[in-house]
Amino acid sequence: MTNADSGDGFVVFDRVQKSYDGETLVVKDLNLSISKGEFVTMLGPSGSGKTTCLMMLAGFEMATHGEIRLDGRNINNVPPHKRGIGMVFQNYALFPHMTVGENLAFPLNVRGMNKSDQETKVKRALDMVQMGRFINRRPAQLSGGQQQRIALARALVFDPELVLMDEPLGALDKQLREHMQFEIKHLHESLGITVVYVTHDQGEALTMSDRVAVFDDGRIQQLAPPDELYERPQNSFVAQFIGENNKLPGKVESLNGDTCTVRLETGEIIA
Ligand code: ADP
Repeated sequence: MTNADSGDGFVVFDRVQKSYDGETLVVKDLNLSISKGEFVTMLGPSGSGKTTCLMMLAGFEMATHGEIRLDGRNINNVPPHKRGIGMVFQNYALFPHMTVGENLAFPLNVRGMNKSDQETKVKRALDMVQMGRFINRRPAQLSGGQQQRIALARALVFDPELVLMDEPLGALDKQLREHMQFEIKHLHESLGITVVYVTHDQGEALTMSDRVAVFDDGRIQQLAPPDELYERPQNSFVAQFIGENNKLPGKVESLNGDTCTVRLETGEIIA
């Protein structure tokens, strides 16, 4: 099995390419297979193609080549609202003219659910994020963290099996961010949902994920559990990128086979 294979996972990118201008590929021959219930993070520098991958999975962008499969089905031509995917994006704002309850009921309404079932689901989703008492507030009457919790509840309200999150905590301060990371991880584990998470924050990726896909220039450079990225970076890009967040304050000097040489801030060189 290769590092980023396109086997029979719950979510599969099978030789996916994307070009916005018909010339430059911003996603290059991407193979990725994600198991049901997994928390996979796409991590990498700005412009490396992470959001484009999430947008293709969500259905807001079409792959130029290749196939995206969900639970064994090719979804290339399935519109976003028929994919059954929950989404939390940093800029995926709540509707300002609707109350919290109405915001949460919206995706259920779109799916034609009756009012009484809607009420039950909305209440349950709000309880999940401990926001039940805010049901009649409008988004402007909530803090940033509370709004983000409501966005999370809205993504979960219709019991999706897959939730996509693109820098969902980017606008929050450090303390709230760490708290929300814990809550997201807890929800992921208790609900057994599959999560595909995009961030450029290594700390976030490494603490939350079952596996991390390190992106650079439209390709996955390495797909591995966090520990493995630290211990066995597959190339100098990953070593350098992960090294920036490493416990040892130092820089990777060279990578030769299994040997990684690091120059510590003290000047000492370790291999
Ligand atoms: P990341 O999420 O890693 O920051 P993106 O997927 O947003 O990367 O962007 C990858 C590349 O595609 C960048 O060069 C970006 O400028 C380009 N890009 C992203 N969205 C569009 C778009 N809607 N139209 C044209 N180019 C885009």
